[in-house]
Amino acid sequence: NREIQLVQRPEGTPNHDHLKVMNTNIPEPQQGELLLKTLYVSVDPYMRGRMNEGKSYIPPFQLNEAISGGAVAQVTESNSPEFEKGDIVTGSLDWKEYSTVKAESVRKVDPSLGPVTTSLGILGMPGLTAYFGLTDIGQPKEGETLVVSGAAGAVGSAVVQIGKIYGCRVVGIAGTDEKTSYLKEELGVDVAIDYKKENVKEALEAACPNGVDVYFDNVGGSISDALYPLLNKFARIIQCGAISSYNTPNDQGPRIHMHLIKASALVKGFTVGDYQDRFKEGFDHLSSWLKDGKLTYEETIQEGFEQIPDAFFGLFKGENLGKQLVKVADP
Ligand code: NDP
Repeated sequence: NREIQLVQRPEGTPNHDHLKVMNTNIPEPQQGELLLKTLYVSVDPYMRGRMNEGKSYIPPFQLNEAISGGAVAQVTESNSPEFEKGDIVTGSLDWKEYSTVKAESVRKVDPSLGPVTTSLGILGMPGLTAYFGLTDIGQPKEGETLVVSGAAGAVGSAVVQIGKIYGCRVVGIAGTDEKTSYLKEELGVDVAIDYKKENVKEALEAACPNGVDVYFDNVGGSISDALYPLLNKFARIIQCGAISSYNTPNDQGPRIHMHLIKASALVKGFTVGDYQDRFKEGFDHLSSWLKDGKLTYEETIQEGFEQIPDAFFGLFKGENLGKQLVKVADP
């Protein structure tokens, strides 16, 4: 049984010196426990923060222990009346081929809602992040201009589409031609900006002739520096992520405070867990939009347990379109 451990804390960009594949035993499931075979593993940018020592909104990963995160698995042995052998479940699992877990730590996936992988993407944590961040903090209104950074990723691609459902003019920013074409042709954004090729400040000025009302920020850094001067009166900024600085936390940019004052703008950071009590509402909206064809999604799936570290590193190089997953095994 292979598992992936954090063996060294990264200082900057994570690489194979920090994550190692190890062999371990599988504990026998006791009363109330399940033996699970991992099928899909989600790799997520927030995991980078958990590789650092120190206090954050979730505890750091421990050295020489398995990394854990969202996964889909199949029950291979059940000592719980709630689950049967063969059930497909999701929850936070260790990066292991097989795990023994308490039955209450996972929930069944409803396969009638879509492929099981959607429980890690559009119908899971990233979809809920997009929904609550945009609707609750962003308060988008018809005709307003919404700008989304990291627009072709798991969260961003859902945000741009929800923005269109709310009637916004949507501008998406991403890092490759494939991504900007996807944003325009598949997701229907009004303007897509390639931040690696274009002058972001000039491109944003051209794309937002009436200024910016809502900014859903997944990346922070120089893209956000270029955006702040364009904020309209009473603009809302959803500070969802800041991936551009996860590996360079001491990076500094221009001061933004005067822009916030001039625009009477609101900036709010959040974590999706803040909305735990409302997850059902978010899930119901996302699944009905998906069913009605108002929402679509992409997944980039690497194959093989040993590919998990590379799939994770790829998030910081922009290798994923939509949700990045790793397929570990067939059911
Ligand atoms: P994505 O699927 O968007 O993958 C990460 C993407 O970030 C890459 O594909 C890449 O796209 C982009 N990126 C990487 N490095 C940089 C950089 N230096 N500058 C600009 N863009 C970069 O990940 P998620 O959708 O899962 O997450 C998106 C953001 O939302 C992350 O910051 C994450 O931490 C945050 N998040 C926050 C949550 C919350 O509760 N607040 C919950 C979930 C996610 P490209 O090719 O365009 O560069």
